[in-house]
Amino acid sequence: MASVDFMKALQFAAYKHSKQRRKDPDSTPYVNHLINVATILAEAGIKDEGVLIAAILHDVVEDTDTTIQEVEQLFGTDVSSLVLEVTDDKSLEKSERKRLQIVNARNTTKRAKLIKLADKLDNLRDLRKTTPCGWTEERRDQYFEWAKLVVDNLRGTNAIMEEKLDQIFAERSLV
Ligand code: NDP
Ligand code: ZN
Repeated sequence: MASVDFMKALQFAAYKHSKQRRKDPDSTPYVNHLINVATILAEAGIKDEGVLIAAILHDVVEDTDTTIQEVEQLFGTDVSSLVLEVTDDKSLEKSERKRLQIVNARNTTKRAKLIKLADKLDNLRDLRKTTPCGWTEERRDQYFEWAKLVVDNLRGTNAIMEEKLDQIFAERSLV
């Protein structure tokens, strides 16, 4: 059964991301991605509540006006430290942020690695279905290649998610 804290995180994230849409041609509500990431983790056998709550909140600091302090006040240090670990530094150039995701993947905690794996799996599932509006096929291909480099540095964390990711990479001959 979902806890009160989990439901509060879902409510908070749905509110904070309410004006945002994903990049797919249907402009899916942003919150669908957050629900997908938490579902992927649950299906992979993850019962750690801090991880599941942080999964719901994983983009709230990066993509909304929410601060990490606000997350800490509302959900505690355990959750906020996980959210911080999966949040890119937006003051850096996009290309530098992408490079750092590859480099930093290895040094994150196992619990943050779980969220990163689930996040990449959901993004790649979306990209496998459709190309985001305004993206060329080349950009989509490059995203798969970059995601593989990140995932390669997250390995040894969860066999179920890694197998699903490997199937997607194999489909595109990325081995
Ligand atoms: P973005 O970082 O702009 O978009 C990818 C991110 O968008 C995902 O990581 C995901 O992040 C989020 N997202 C939202 N909707 C979707 C969806 N439907 N499917 C998948 N992800 C979605 O794109 P890039 O990865 O291409 O990064 C930009 C980089 O690409 C820059 O370095 C830039 O210089 C370069 N670039 C390359 C071009 C090219 O043609 N190759 C053209 C323009 C830029 P989350 O889960 O966090 O929401
Ligand atoms: Zn995400």
